[in-house]
Amino acid sequence: MDEIKYDLHCHSTASDGALPPTEVVLRAKEHGVTTLALTDHDTVAGLENAKKTADELALNLIPGIELSCSWSKKTFHIIGLNIDPNNAELLEGIHGIQTTRIERAKKIAHKLEKNKIPGAFDAVQQAAGSGMITRTHFADFLLKNNYVNSMQGAFDHYLGQSKSAFVSTQWAELDDAIHWITNSGGIAVVAHPMRYKLTASWMRRFLTAFKEAGGQGMEVVTGRSNPDEIRRAIHFARQFELHGSVGSDFHTPKNKWVELGRLAPLPPSIHPVWRLFPS
Ligand code: AMP
Ligand code: MN
Ligand code: MN
Ligand code: MN
Repeated sequence: MDEIKYDLHCHSTASDGALPPTEVVLRAKEHGVTTLALTDHDTVAGLENAKKTADELALNLIPGIELSCSWSKKTFHIIGLNIDPNNAELLEGIHGIQTTRIERAKKIAHKLEKNKIPGAFDAVQQAAGSGMITRTHFADFLLKNNYVNSMQGAFDHYLGQSKSAFVSTQWAELDDAIHWITNSGGIAVVAHPMRYKLTASWMRRFLTAFKEAGGQGMEVVTGRSNPDEIRRAIHFARQFELHGSVGSDFHTPKNKWVELGRLAPLPPSIHPVWRLFPS
């Protein structure tokens, strides 16, 4: 029997990925992925083309999304797996976040202008096309025009929290986002739990709220997890009886550290989230 390989978190040009949905699926196939979830930020626009390609390649595509949420004045990313991309309440919910994204992009561009960096909004709008505008687009713009010399530099100097072009944003409420996912038949999963830099007590508070709202999973393994981060994620997943997910968070072939399907195995002490998928 052929090996089964899951990658349940990645991005296409529908949000801040470098490759169109079709090419993401082709690349996943080339890297041995057998079940892929495309999880663009706050949009389902890439799923139709991804599904067509996946069907041609006999790859199992899980319709997914990564929702931007606010809880206790902090930003969290919640992955929805196996959502119904046509669910009216979900679509209405993400429409609200999409409007917020455009308004925020204008404010970021305005702050950059005050830093003598003109033209950012037009540039990111053109780069994003019909897709979501994200801070990745701003970072690309700053890098291309030599205002910074790396993507990380763009976040360190301008776009990161409390930097000069940072815009504090009210995203979807955590409870609402989880409801949109579960109400459409999906499974809500905490994305990259170690990236929020929470203390253990804040993590417990957050996971308590996440569970109460109907959340069921946590990304235990991501494309950039080190063994210590995996250990800590397992600890919380077990404590809160969350199913474990694995996702590379692939955005671009230019990032040599993150590749589709390149993931540490899910530890055996964790119930895999794919057990919850209907067979
Ligand atoms: P947004 O949702 O618009 O705030 O953009 C967040 C996205 O920016 C994330 O999904 C990442 O793809 C990207 N990002 C955040 N921090 C960094 C960083 N330090 N370096 C590169 N990309 C980053
Ligand atoms: Mn991203
Ligand atoms: Mn994320
Ligand atoms: Mn992501």
